[in-house]
Amino acid sequence: MAARPPKSKKRPQDTEIGAIHKSWRGRVRFALVYPNRYHVGMSNLGFQSVYRLLNTYDHVVCERAFLPEPSRKTPSIIKTVESGKRLTDTDVIAFSLSFENDYPHILSILENIGLPLQADQRSDQHPLLIAGGVASFLNPEPIAAFFDCFFIGEAEAIIPRFLEAFEPGNKRRRMLKKIASDVPGAYVPAFYEVDYHPDGTIAAFHSQKAAPPSVKRMYLKDLAQTATCSTILTPDTAFEQTHLVEVARGCPHGCRFCAAGYIYRPPRFRPISALTEDIDQGISQTDRIGLVGAAVSDLPGLSDLCGQYLDQDLRISFSSLRADGLSPQLLSVLKHSDAKTATIAPDAGSERMRKVINKGITEDAILAAVDNLVAHGIPNLKLYFMIGLPTETNDDVEAIIHLSKRIKHRFLKASRAQNRIGDITISLNCFVPKPFTPFQWVAMAETGDLKKKIAKIKNELKKVPNLRVHSDIPRWAYIQALFSRGDRRVADILSLAHTHKGNWARTLKVVSVNPDFYVLRERDLDEHLPWDFLDQGIKKSYLQTEYRRATSAKPSPTCRVDTCQICGICNQPSDDRGQRSEV
Ligand code: SF4
Repeated sequence: MAARPPKSKKRPQDTEIGAIHKSWRGRVRFALVYPNRYHVGMSNLGFQSVYRLLNTYDHVVCERAFLPEPSRKTPSIIKTVESGKRLTDTDVIAFSLSFENDYPHILSILENIGLPLQADQRSDQHPLLIAGGVASFLNPEPIAAFFDCFFIGEAEAIIPRFLEAFEPGNKRRRMLKKIASDVPGAYVPAFYEVDYHPDGTIAAFHSQKAAPPSVKRMYLKDLAQTATCSTILTPDTAFEQTHLVEVARGCPHGCRFCAAGYIYRPPRFRPISALTEDIDQGISQTDRIGLVGAAVSDLPGLSDLCGQYLDQDLRISFSSLRADGLSPQLLSVLKHSDAKTATIAPDAGSERMRKVINKGITEDAILAAVDNLVAHGIPNLKLYFMIGLPTETNDDVEAIIHLSKRIKHRFLKASRAQNRIGDITISLNCFVPKPFTPFQWVAMAETGDLKKKIAKIKNELKKVPNLRVHSDIPRWAYIQALFSRGDRRVADILSLAHTHKGNWARTLKVVSVNPDFYVLRERDLDEHLPWDFLDQGIKKSYLQTEYRRATSAKPSPTCRVDTCQICGICNQPSDDRGQRSEV
């Protein structure tokens, strides 16, 4: 038997390039916390960008902290990565929240560092606890009880005003009043109250004098103003030693299930000159570049940008490529980069369902993309599908099976010509209705239903060679829906789950708040929703129209930023406080 290699004593952060080290003396001290493990947080470009942005201010020091790696020993107190300081020694603890299923980790971290869990139990001596990130700015209410303040919108558009208003050592309540009134995009839950109808739905949302009645989402109008690219390179992430560069924010296609496609409107692209600069900076440290965005293939000039680097020994990858956006130049870049796997997201199996979700991609386009990818030497494919979508019938579930088989057939034919047969991986995801999308009113499919559909698809495809099916766990999708669509009362469920050490089955059996009320209930179109006090700029009437179009399988056009005002985002006038949501 071969001897085991000695365990490495290196911590992940020992292999980092680019971490920022500053003295704490005389500076405003931030701990930026990702409520998951190091390798997950460090894959998140938003997390890295906020870290970089805060540290560009001379009077600020920002250090990172993560959920500890699992260990049989009692976990030690979480400290910052850069200088090993306690989080309670900072002025601000800022959580970056991208995924609702990380919410239970927030309470574990607060307990670990010895901070009272509820915001109203903390005193002037404690650091301010703030949260930002897409999950919390979609709907902060389920975790409102634990935070002093949320950033609603893009950090670059809020942080400068926050730093102007924030004075360490000031009385907590006075400080929060100033933040609520002076910082556009800041939501301070303590200054709001909610009234409920006897049936449990929301009757009204009241703000105190210090706070605006609705909180405007803030966004950066011109992405050229900021360098959104990796600050730190590390081998301990999913994008090992890859310099990530953001190419776009938002997406013009308006897929009706996708929250990011709505709350990052209008779609914006970074100029090619700024991207070239960021890529060149990355090349000085690594040969791997990752282009990130919800709509990378829509970037004007993408092929030419990548073409500049074809004569260099560089591996360029893309976070998303639409099946109908694969130009010959992009395919050459993928080939040149020695890409082993390409991802296509048909999202639904039937043409009808792709119209319901406004995917805007035909089956012919999907099959042509398969041919092209294999012909350009990419051996493996990954396909994303969703189950439990609104209006889904058995025929739509069957259509996922049939389309997967047709893709396999085309894949095989194209692979034979290359003398190489790779694998197809199907990823089945449970649809979770999200706030600020046209599906915010629909009921989520029952867990048992989703399980049956997953089992049916897996069973039908299990005999297909070189094809594997992975699926997410419907029970976790249910919890995600609870955190996405809940109101303030969901904090009680989260607290109880924490007391029960993460035992959700036990928690959901005994909790006094009914989780099905949030997850499985269809809402009336005129119901006051828990997130309605946030002004994301999208008109509710537009989402209602899109919902009606979805139920009759009518597609809608993509964004035309220069000419259109249909959803309410573009060319917004100032509000009655003279504030605009764009910076
Ligand atoms: S106003 Fe029109 S172009 Fe602007 S984000 Fe809305 S749909 Fe897109």
